[in-house]
Amino acid sequence: MSLNKKCFCGSIKSFSACCQPLIIKEKQSLTPEQLMRSRFSAYATGNSQYIYDTYAKSSQVSQSIKEISEWSEACTWIALQIHSINNNELIDNESAEQFVEFSAIYITDGVLCELRENSRFILEIPQPENTQTNDKQDLEWRYIDGDIVKHDELTKIKRKELCPCNSFPTTWVIKKGKKYKQCCGN
Ligand SMILES: [Zn+2]
Ligand SMILES: [Zn+2]
Repeated sequence: MSLNKKCFCGSIKSFSACCQPLIIKEKQSLTPEQLMRSRFSAYATGNSQYIYDTYAKSSQVSQSIKEISEWSEACTWIALQIHSINNNELIDNESAEQFVEFSAIYITDGVLCELRENSRFILEIPQPENTQTNDKQDLEWRYIDGDIVKHDELTKIKRKELCPCNSFPTTWVIKKGKKYKQCCGN
């Protein structure tokens, strides 16, 4: 993968300067938005372990890496759109929940879909056994869950029409101007 490739999350940075260092755990997400973006990029690159690891502990029990991986592979991840970020005040060292509302645009079985969700994030201590470290610096952002605002099938894509990834400004796909069958439907 080219180092200069645009990041999957639709930021102006390259993948290697944006979500990749988070996914390979060189860096930590400093904000819920960064975590949100990196989780989308992990779906796009099929890194289900990272998606699992960045769930809050209370949510991990109901998740399986196998199911995450099946869902990520069943979809072509087209674009991420961030709608709003609600940062609540952090009181002392207590972590408050924060919210990011986003749409993930993806194609599955030739259908363009939009999942719009208001996601809930929390700061957690990475290792529960490590009880001595409760400095804010040692806490990491984790995804708890989200309220689905809408989950719609936008359109059934014809193989010869312009690939729908062209209509999303934040799309990372580089085959601009191609028909669906030569682009995301390939
Ligand atoms: Zn990114
Ligand atoms: Zn495309």
